[in-house]
Amino acid sequence: MFRKKILLIYTGGTVGMRQDKDGALKPIDFANLKHDLPEIEKLSCEIHFHSFDVPIDSSNMRPQNWIDLAILIEKNYYHFDGFVILHGSDTLAYTASALSFLLEHLHKPVILTGAQLSLGILRSDARENIIAAIEIASNPLYSLPEVCIYFGSKLYRGNRTTKISSESFNAFDSPNYPTLVNVGVHMDFQLRHWLKANISNELKVHKRVCTDVALFKYFPGVPLYWVESALLHPNIKGIVIETFGAGNLPNHQDFLNIIDKSLQQGKILVNITQCLRGKVIQGRYDTSKQLLKMGVISGHDMTTEAALTKLMFILAQVDSIDAVKLIMQSDIRGELTQPY
Ligand code: ASP
Repeated sequence: MFRKKILLIYTGGTVGMRQDKDGALKPIDFANLKHDLPEIEKLSCEIHFHSFDVPIDSSNMRPQNWIDLAILIEKNYYHFDGFVILHGSDTLAYTASALSFLLEHLHKPVILTGAQLSLGILRSDARENIIAAIEIASNPLYSLPEVCIYFGSKLYRGNRTTKISSESFNAFDSPNYPTLVNVGVHMDFQLRHWLKANISNELKVHKRVCTDVALFKYFPGVPLYWVESALLHPNIKGIVIETFGAGNLPNHQDFLNIIDKSLQQGKILVNITQCLRGKVIQGRYDTSKQLLKMGVISGHDMTTEAALTKLMFILAQVDSIDAVKLIMQSDIRGELTQPY
């Protein structure tokens, strides 16, 4: 019988951690992970393993790790039918978003998963998350052409996902996009929400991101000297600004002057909302009309993770400011809902 081949990549995270002698959780080596999960032998696919030399807590993930993962997938792309990446949950949504941009014309599933409790713990959610992620990646009928996150019985589009709980087994949500698979007694494949693969294009792996970016969250009373230091730093090329509601910021002239100066310096300013759900509509309120006029661009309904990693990706690929602005506002990997 034909068995799909899956590459299971272990990067670290709670999923494979153990307590050290002081009680703190530290990543273990991958050999123990296989020992703790003998059930994977029962899956009807062929599984090969790859581990980071030094497994890490995902708080230690850097853009170079995203690129290393993309290169690893590129090297193994034609030998495997799908990839499952075990990763800490803390920065899982950043890695999934970054990979979605780095892996252009993906035709195979890349599913990231992790756990709130380590495999070695009796009530651990790791077992279900890992097994279901592998089952979806190796499904004999459907090949999902996307970077996804599997967590708490749901498969989400990676670049639509954000971590919402450090306690619940349902640690993630995809606030502005439906789930791709709901797992219960049966696997409910929501095919109409999946990206469509264009089989005439070969996988293209991008290997650069620009880290001269910043994230600025506005709050009432933020000191103007802090706004200046965030928006006018000479090295920074692009800033994601988390604004109120549908994209609103104060319309006092002294604040708008800083925004204007930042834009005049050639920086890309992307407006995303602090709300979990909904989108930016610049010009809906007077408090966002000026932003639109000055050239702040809308991040529509992107998550913070998607907006930041997309900006890092595009700034590394394109020089023209107009092109960066255009691509930032376009749907390139299913990360935003294109306004009509
Ligand atoms: N600190 C851990 C990590 O992100 C948390 C987790 O895995 O859930 O690596």
